[in-house]
Amino acid sequence: MSVPGSVLVLNAGSSSLKYQLVHPDTGVVTAEGLCERIGDTGSSITHELNGVEVTERILLPDHRAAFERVAALFAEDGIDLATAGLRAVGHRVVHGGRTFFLPTLITEHVMSEIERISSLAPLHNPANLVGIRAAAELLPDVSAVAVFDTAFFHGLPDAAATYAIDRGVASLHAIRRYGFHGTSHEYVSAKAAEFLGRPYGEVNQIVLHLGNGASASAIRGGVPIDTSMGMTPLQGLVMGTRSGDIDPGVVMHLHRVVKLSADQIDALLNKQSGLKGMCGEGDFRSVTELIEQGDASAKLAYDVYVHRLRHYLGAYLLELGSLDAICFTAGVGENAAGLRADTLAGLENFGIIVDPERNTMRSKEVRRISADGSRVEVLVVPTNEELAIARQAAQVVAES
Ligand code: ADP
Repeated sequence: MSVPGSVLVLNAGSSSLKYQLVHPDTGVVTAEGLCERIGDTGSSITHELNGVEVTERILLPDHRAAFERVAALFAEDGIDLATAGLRAVGHRVVHGGRTFFLPTLITEHVMSEIERISSLAPLHNPANLVGIRAAAELLPDVSAVAVFDTAFFHGLPDAAATYAIDRGVASLHAIRRYGFHGTSHEYVSAKAAEFLGRPYGEVNQIVLHLGNGASASAIRGGVPIDTSMGMTPLQGLVMGTRSGDIDPGVVMHLHRVVKLSADQIDALLNKQSGLKGMCGEGDFRSVTELIEQGDASAKLAYDVYVHRLRHYLGAYLLELGSLDAICFTAGVGENAAGLRADTLAGLENFGIIVDPERNTMRSKEVRRISADGSRVEVLVVPTNEELAIARQAAQVVAES
């Protein structure tokens, strides 16, 4: 078992705790798991160690209890996390605001800064902090590093990052585009350049991260120049349960006329919109099944999803001026061949041609799905945010 030197990567959500024990040099995953419905009576843990998976229903009143149980599951397999020689605990933190744009060793001061930024990401940062505190209590001697989802987009050009609203209000309240999924966009774009055998700094690409959350980015020579998510992860593409772009006037209307509170509108746009809002299913595979059964609302939801993707694709193509590669990643991007084909259909005049056979071949590796005559390379690049976080955390610890 390659536990010594591994990094425990933690991703704490409001009612979940995702974890992976991974070696940053080899990429070997010893264990991974997910605690769900924390704080609810139906809470459970799925834990997989060396390929053996166990699921247990267990009362997990809070994240501390969840992390304690995870540590106990490791201990049952002979791994004492406190003394196993972990190099670091790497925490995914959603919002770094303007403060954090590098992976950062966690101190009390860093924790209070993350808390301060929480007003920008009330659904995410508080949960991330709870995870950080739970791990710090149980593993006080292991260095902890925060890796921020916004970091990669820190240097977005002002013209892309600025909302066209009152300048005073924007600057007083730090209202601007931050961008998210940065760890994935950076990892995938670097992998793509490596696959193409070209220096990262010379490749212009559009990365489409399509998971439950979804975002697009335009990356010029390794430097992001635009991205679809905004001050929060609600903006941009259609997602599993999030609306993506919407006229802000709709929000006022929902408040004034429909009489929904801010919290109700927040829940509507974050949890009951997107694919789920349009057809009742937020999971892409379920949407596909509904379409196969002839469900018209699922077909419309799919069409809206593709329409929005093409909208961003077109915008980023022009912003970049010249394009070398389009990369599909995350659950939908890596697996839904039909969606990839529909998104890029009819773009031959732009030098974008998908090869139907390559597109439908299944693999866990980086692969080219464009036709030989396609000027733009179209790639499927499996993302690995955990490994990217583990590597960044290990590097910070090595340098500290
Ligand atoms: P998260 O954003 O939670 O990390 P993932 O990247 O795992 O999400 O993506 C989850 C999405 O990927 C779901 O909508 C799921 O239906 C979709 N997905 C997973 N496997 C497939 C598949 N074989 N075909 C189509 N969609 C898939």
